[in-house]
Amino acid sequence: YKVKEAGKNHYKIYHAEMDIEPQVTMENALRKGIERNELELYYQPQVSLENNKIVGVEALLRWIRPDQGMVPPCEFIPLAEETGLILPLGEWVLKEACLQSVKWGEQGILPIRIAVNISAIQFQQNNFIEKVTETLFETKANPENIELEITESVAMGSIEETLSKLQSLKEMGFHIAMDDFGTGYSSLQYLNQYPIDHLKIDRSFISSLHTSEKNVAIVKLIVLMAKGLNYKVIAEGVEDDSQKLFLRSIECDEYQGYLFSPPLNRLDTEVLLQKQLTK
Ligand code: C2E
Ligand code: CA
Ligand code: CA
Ligand code: CA
Repeated sequence: YKVKEAGKNHYKIYHAEMDIEPQVTMENALRKGIERNELELYYQPQVSLENNKIVGVEALLRWIRPDQGMVPPCEFIPLAEETGLILPLGEWVLKEACLQSVKWGEQGILPIRIAVNISAIQFQQNNFIEKVTETLFETKANPENIELEITESVAMGSIEETLSKLQSLKEMGFHIAMDDFGTGYSSLQYLNQYPIDHLKIDRSFISSLHTSEKNVAIVKLIVLMAKGLNYKVIAEGVEDDSQKLFLRSIECDEYQGYLFSPPLNRLDTEVLLQKQLTK
């Protein structure tokens, strides 16, 4: 992208080649897109390295624009975060995932958990816990089946507040995952205080395992550290067998990546979950 400044706080984003869409237009389109149900959740399996069973799925947002097809989240999540649209969007995602967990429960194909990405901006809202409580009440979902994925950047706010919110969510029964671990402003000082269930090793460490001895050392260390702290580890972005074998050899718990499956739409996810039952 080229970003051109066009007055105070106004930016126009130009794609290098075609597809010139000013940010304001995109913001409006996203606003309308939310109203018109153009957003959809895809699901990527999270798989046990011990027995190759699907133990969860991560819900990933997709925007399917009638005129342009699928827009990847990296093109609209940052915009949604800048404009505050992430708040209604994030609420919608959590509600949708909760409803899906109830439906899959009724169909008998519920994987252990559905993981939902929570933006730091969403998490830092004063009424975040109330909103989540409301969603649970409305959907009748069991929080034990939901994992909230937060990133290290949630701790940019007050550490006490972060800890107390995480504690409340934990007491409600949610699972908590620390996403993109190792990329953020990570403070090992607080890591042992977070009531988390999963550490997710960022894809960047996994994709360079072949080429970087140093990343091999880092990944080994993260797994070892997580075990010491009693957290389970999920490796993301696993694309080939050698990565998977390495992760299994160091007793990483779970993996996620194109090797097993890309994110799938609801129907394809259901087919996969059904198949696992009859295996
Ligand atoms: P993330 O949470 O780190 O999600 C993992 C991303 O890695 C997903 O990209 C997924 O499709 C991709 N991925 C999974 N396996 C592989 C692999 O083997 N190779 C490669 N190259 N990529 C893989 P996606 O779906 O494009 O999402 C990008 C980011 O957008 C997410 O990163 C997350 O930060 C954000 N995002 C997606 N959905 C939501 C949402 O509902 N709410 C919020 N706040 N953020 C979301
Ligand atoms: Ca995630
Ligand atoms: Ca991640
Ligand atoms: Ca990531």
